[in-house]
Amino acid sequence: MALKPNNTLQIGDVHITALTDGSVSFDPRVLFPDDPLNVWAPYYDRFPEYFSGQFFQNNLGSFVFTSGDQRVLADTGFGPHGEMLGHPAPGELINDFQRNHIPFDSITTVFMTHLHGDHVGWNLREDLEDRPLSFPNARYRVHVADWNHFTTREMLSDADRGTATNRSVIPIQERGVLDLMVGETELAPGITAFPTPGHTPGHMSLLVASRNERALLVGDILGSPMQATETELRYSPDWDGPMGIKARNDILDQAEATNSIVIGSHLSFPGWGTIIRWEGRRYWKSL
Ligand SMILES: [Zn+2]
Repeated sequence: MALKPNNTLQIGDVHITALTDGSVSFDPRVLFPDDPLNVWAPYYDRFPEYFSGQFFQNNLGSFVFTSGDQRVLADTGFGPHGEMLGHPAPGELINDFQRNHIPFDSITTVFMTHLHGDHVGWNLREDLEDRPLSFPNARYRVHVADWNHFTTREMLSDADRGTATNRSVIPIQERGVLDLMVGETELAPGITAFPTPGHTPGHMSLLVASRNERALLVGDILGSPMQATETELRYSPDWDGPMGIKARNDILDQAEATNSIVIGSHLSFPGWGTIIRWEGRRYWKSL
């Protein structure tokens, strides 16, 4: 594993660039309604970038994986849709592509870890009047169980839960560029999506394995860096709480056993780190 300056990482032959849609500040009790604010106090020193006062400062990360002539983008942020959890979301991802000189038409696959609104927001160019596909040469891919879950009539007609799907996912399917995945799926050489249900029914993670180096993109199994330690706290966005906790413990076990880098959208930018042990507990530690 070679660490380059700033926001790129090399795993064997796979090159990774971390991008961001910006970050959003909010009250931790929105996501952890059972827990008082002081649960997070022990983490203020460990993750200073993640806290503004007692509030979370949550990154909205996306990742570009380049393998041979293939380019896989994992997740497309929240988009320029105003407020997320009651706080303004910057909607910076398209600008961040331009800052990093990554052409939109070089993306061959858009992989959605799951269909929550902060992972699909820039599927379309919301900043342009006719809303073209943001990545005109890409196939968009998601697990069939998330498609089925989020596109029921009940979900689509729900003012809160249906908004992102109606806006950012249905048009992808209507334009004929959505491919549903059933199980483990190779997206590009060395890059494999596999089901990790719990956060949503069809939540998927990515294994990057190349030249005996490994990384795991864990999606929202870790919605914050602290969850690598506080695995058992009820995380209200999880579709199935106990399954979410099991997925969290399982992926951490897997990362530790295989010495994998752990990458996540909501881990501190650029979003990659290792699992370390400290006084008997596990922690995610930024690289
Ligand atoms: Zn998320």
